[in-house]
Amino acid sequence: MPKQARLNGIKAFRTYTIQEAAEITGVSPRTIRNWIANGLLVMDGERPVLIRGDDLRKFIKNQRAERKCETAPDEFYCVSCRKPRKAAERFADCTIIGARVKLTAFCEVCETVISKPITEASIPEIRRTLTLTIKRHETTL
Ligand SMILES: [Zn+2]
Repeated sequence: MPKQARLNGIKAFRTYTIQEAAEITGVSPRTIRNWIANGLLVMDGERPVLIRGDDLRKFIKNQRAERKCETAPDEFYCVSCRKPRKAAERFADCTIIGARVKLTAFCEVCETVISKPITEASIPEIRRTLTLTIKRHETTL
């Protein structure tokens, strides 16, 4: 789970450089760059890159809403539909890497790849509603 970004202290009418945005939200500059790649708006043509406080707040709030979005054991949050969706054909891949388990499937509506982390203990329950292809990888250090 990535570190929770802080919202407090972001001023809506200020602009922030990547470094400043990282400091105020408590994440790394690299995370801020990932956010930009994932849709965080930046000001047009400004060098260095400047982010408006209200855009930054909006982005973090959306991100929280997505995380909070409740999904049933056989549902996934689809980033394209922006809704919980079921797996197409009820098929999912279950990838186990060390202690991490991830389910991957296709959205039954738009066919976007959907995935979510699960616990190994929940596999039997998920198997009641989904056909799982389990792939186990040894951890490579
Ligand atoms: Zn979808």
